[in-house]
Amino acid sequence: MALRTNSSGHFLRILALFTVGCISFVPVLRAQQPLHAAAAKPAKPVDKPKLVVLLVVDQMRADYVEKFGFQWTGGLLRLVTEGAWFRDAAYPYAATETCVGHATISTGSFPATHGMVANAWLDRKEQKMVTCTSDPDPSVKNLGYAGATPKGADTAWRMAVPSFAEELKFQTGGSTRIVSFSLKARAALTMAGHKADAATWFDGGAWVTSSPYGVQISIEEQAKAHPPKADYGKTWSLSLPEKSYWYGQKALGAVAPKGWDLTFPHPLRGESGSGEPDAAFYQQWTSSPYADTALTELAKKAVDALHLGNAAGTDFLAIGYSTVDYVGHEFGPRSREIQDILIRLDKDLGDLFAHLDQKVGRGNYVVALSADHGVAPTPEDMQTTGADAGLLHLSELQAKIEKALEPFHFAKPAVAQVSGSDIYFAVGVYDKMRQDHAAMQAVYDAALSQPGVSAVYRAEELANRPATQSPAVRAFALSFFPGRSGDLFILPKPYWLLDGTPTGIARTYGTGHGVPYNYDQHVPVLLMGFGIQSGEYLQSVTPADIAPTLAALCGITLAPRDGHILSEALKTADPSSRKRERR
Ligand SMILES: [Zn+2]
Repeated sequence: MALRTNSSGHFLRILALFTVGCISFVPVLRAQQPLHAAAAKPAKPVDKPKLVVLLVVDQMRADYVEKFGFQWTGGLLRLVTEGAWFRDAAYPYAATETCVGHATISTGSFPATHGMVANAWLDRKEQKMVTCTSDPDPSVKNLGYAGATPKGADTAWRMAVPSFAEELKFQTGGSTRIVSFSLKARAALTMAGHKADAATWFDGGAWVTSSPYGVQISIEEQAKAHPPKADYGKTWSLSLPEKSYWYGQKALGAVAPKGWDLTFPHPLRGESGSGEPDAAFYQQWTSSPYADTALTELAKKAVDALHLGNAAGTDFLAIGYSTVDYVGHEFGPRSREIQDILIRLDKDLGDLFAHLDQKVGRGNYVVALSADHGVAPTPEDMQTTGADAGLLHLSELQAKIEKALEPFHFAKPAVAQVSGSDIYFAVGVYDKMRQDHAAMQAVYDAALSQPGVSAVYRAEELANRPATQSPAVRAFALSFFPGRSGDLFILPKPYWLLDGTPTGIARTYGTGHGVPYNYDQHVPVLLMGFGIQSGEYLQSVTPADIAPTLAALCGITLAPRDGHILSEALKTADPSSRKRERR
């Protein structure tokens, strides 16, 4: 535990040489050697990576690497010790949500460019909330694997620019195969792009895709042979002895999935324990390490079946690991559950990399790992420090604004929707407010009277990326996309959680994310493998830099310039090879 205070910035590398942590004093490299020695193939010289692997861990805070990394022995450790580790990576924008982060990583641009401004927003034309992947095209339909019949239609059509993977396929004559997996549609689809050879996610107890993306035989076989319900009856227990964990048995402010206690062990038996998987079982499953393992197995199967990394071009494999997000929402970042699920994910990634070493060849593929956002501590936990923390009740905020506008006789209701930080007014109301100083002031006064509100911003302050000294205005401006973003924006005070739970109902989660504070913005950026210069890098970067860096490795060009190439982490070419190329 004392090791966490090591501030040299090199503790993981040092530990890799000496110790695996406070429990088992086994050298890490010894633990790694069988994995690598068995799997490694001599790397043959190639000009471009044979495979690009994009890994996005939903809700993984950057400080998890610093705090928990000393216990890792698998793929996460390998990324940190063999790869390029950017320790000061953060999103510069306000909308730190899943769809937004995955789209930023995949396109190399910010939401002001790619248009995925939230997981869901108000469609002003239809006057209804739409998810970022919902596709109104009647010819699009979600398709289920292993006999599942999913509802809805999801694609990446709302993403305003192509993904890196799409550009790679387009610019290399179509030789790239694009395959992506996640528990969430908004992760799998944004990472893949508008079309792909396979984009698979989990919905209603089954693996699904949609009609513009291919149905793959290998995924069908895996879905049939290893359905999630086969994990019914398993129990998630602590991986390490109790004294290895940073936090107490019960996380303060946690809200467990139905059927689970707030303490380990967590049995996957649904709500009733009747022996049959129910909705609660699938919620438990997506909050357990078994879902990450299932995703890893699906990916390995696709690598084998499609011979990814063994064809003419550079292939693309993306995996969005979502369980950390579910567990973080339920138990918070200061929980044994978060520490343990990362220990399990580290093992899954070790397994994945060993498989790729064997099938693609070590050094022939490049891996990028990041997260879509971080997370705040639960307000109850933060309050124990004496800090000002709490719940910002959005339903109360909405009612106050509605009441404040009553004397002005605008449409009723005047507020159409409050969604996270975004306030949308009914058709025509905001235009009238802009002409009526007293009405605008009344709304500001009402919003600022709500406990937890720090500031209010207007859409017209944020459009066209204004030059500003204000970090908050800049953050909201980088998230602003005309037509999709709200009319007004609420900045909560630090450690005040935006809570959309209706008044009088108990909240169903422990904590959340979505605001422009470092606990939501600061995430890991790790690169490893083909063309990557190992090391620790302390300069400020953003996850939008990943796609341009991968593009540089693959010799293609991306349209947006929000991100930049992490050139410090790229190996420079041997000058003699350049001469040969010129001839
Ligand atoms: Zn989340």
